[in-house]
Amino acid sequence: MSGAPSSDLDALCEILARCKCLGISTGAGLSAASGIQTYRGADGQWNNIDPMSVASLEAFTANPGKVWAFFHPKRDKCIRAQPNAAHNVLASLSLPSVRKELLPGLSDPEKPPLYVTQNFDGLCRRALDATLEGNTELDNDEKATAHGRLIEMHGSCYRFLCLQCKALKTLTHTPLATVLADEATTKRAIADELTIPVEQLPRCGGEEWAGSNRHGRCGGPLRPAITWFGEVPEGQGELVRVLTKVDVLLVIGTTSLVHPAASYAATVKKNGGVVVVFNLGQTKSDEVADFAFYGPCEETVPRLFERLRELNKK
Ligand SMILES: [Zn+2]
Repeated sequence: MSGAPSSDLDALCEILARCKCLGISTGAGLSAASGIQTYRGADGQWNNIDPMSVASLEAFTANPGKVWAFFHPKRDKCIRAQPNAAHNVLASLSLPSVRKELLPGLSDPEKPPLYVTQNFDGLCRRALDATLEGNTELDNDEKATAHGRLIEMHGSCYRFLCLQCKALKTLTHTPLATVLADEATTKRAIADELTIPVEQLPRCGGEEWAGSNRHGRCGGPLRPAITWFGEVPEGQGELVRVLTKVDVLLVIGTTSLVHPAASYAATVKKNGGVVVVFNLGQTKSDEVADFAFYGPCEETVPRLFERLRELNKK
């Protein structure tokens, strides 16, 4: 296809009915309706602050308290947020019955689609958890496979790395340290008006740590296991390899300015695949898109699923 992207939903449904290998790439726009602030755009959080000063290894090394003071309230927002309708329909593709109904042409019907997100808000994972929880269609191995297909390329606000024993920990509670629950303190730390002592920051083993040096409870400093500015997202080589097999890529809620996610669409196009964009407005990747659907993702994405369901019933 060439020229402007099509907005013909039924034509896309026809293509999806024959799709052999689906890929999904999501960004901040997916979580907008859940109340998570986007990074760029009119109300983006980086419009007021230099990301290198609060979300980089250099900043963390120089002043870990400032980085935690910036990160922790954002994590609290993510914890309070709920997955929206778009997260939920995407998560439903982890179920074989849904894939069979909506994507009957998949060459490997046993395998959920590759699902990559740039978001570290954990909402894709939580929607997946909710879909899989109590589901009797899948055994535990199959549920683990479904989780393995979701790649949080920038990490997750629920995962932390101990810089001392290198344990990777999943922590869902808040606050992770008492001092970080105080809004006045975190605001002053971000403004460089005070420095939070390292001893008061989240540590391996938690605040009740009492001198143990066991792996995973060693008392060492924790860092958020998210990709900071200047760091390389994990698993990109493997991702590009899988992407060469994808014949339909759904790009959802991303401005496509963040590399390497921006190159996914180009990879799929180069291999003859179809690229579909769902976003609030036009994005840079629309240049290579075959289809584009503009509007809130929590409306446009479920609409696609509904239409697929209707057409496949006929
Ligand atoms: Zn440790």
